[in-house]
Amino acid sequence: MTDSVNKITIALSKGRIFKETLPLLAAADIVPADDPEKSRKLILDTNHDDIKLLIIRATDVPTYVQFGAADLGVAGKDVLMEHGGEGLYEPLDLKIARCKLMTAGLVNPRPRINGHLRVATKFTRVAKRYFASRGEQVELIKLYGSMELGPVVGLSDLIVDVVDTGNTLKANGLIPVDHIADISSRLVVNKASMKMKHRRIATIIEQVRQAV
Ligand code: AMP
Repeated sequence: MTDSVNKITIALSKGRIFKETLPLLAAADIVPADDPEKSRKLILDTNHDDIKLLIIRATDVPTYVQFGAADLGVAGKDVLMEHGGEGLYEPLDLKIARCKLMTAGLVNPRPRINGHLRVATKFTRVAKRYFASRGEQVELIKLYGSMELGPVVGLSDLIVDVVDTGNTLKANGLIPVDHIADISSRLVVNKASMKMKHRRIATIIEQVRQAV
C-alpha cells in the first residue's frame, strides 16, 4: 500500500496518455510540477504536497495499481485486457488514446501448408482468449514491438496489434483482418485504496468524470 492514507499516488505513462490525461487531471485541480518529457524524475510532484505522479511504462501501470504502489492509474484498455485487471476497479472510460485492437495479415497471405496459424503479438493473453473463443488453435509468438514485421519476414501469419489510422499496417504491406476490441484509456483504482481513501478518490473520479 502507499505509505499513508493521506497521500495519493497516480501512475501514468509518458507520451500520448500523459498529454491527454493532463487536462483531465487539471479538472480535478491536479497539476504536475514537471514535464516528464524533459525531466528524468520518475516521481513528479504536483501542486498538492500529498499528490504524486509516478511516470512508468504503460504496460506496468496496472501492476503498480494492483499492488497498491499507486492508488490510481491511467492505462489503455489493451494493456488492461492483457494484464487481466486483478485487484483493480475500472470506474471511468477517459475516452482518450482511442484505437482498435485488431488482427492483421499480409495483403496477399502466403498459402499455409500445414500446422497451426502463427500469430505474433505482445498481447499473448488477449490473443489466446480471442482465438480460443473462435475455436481456433494458434501458435502464439511473443514479441515486444514492431509486430508489423512478423508476417513480412515469415515469422507469423497474423499479428494482433492496436491500430489507429492503419497507416503503419499499410506502410508494411498489411491489412486489418478482424476487430477484437475498441480501445481507449481507463482510470483504474486500487481496490483497497478505494475503501481506505474513499472520499478523496471518489472526488477525483467525479471531477475527472465531468471533464471527460
Ligand atoms: P496507426 O495510426 O494505425 O499507423 O498507428 C501507429 C502505431 O501507433 C500502431 O502500430 C500502434 O503501435 C500505435 N498506436 C496507435 N494508437 C495507439 C493507442 N491509442 N495506444 C497505443 N498505441 C497506439
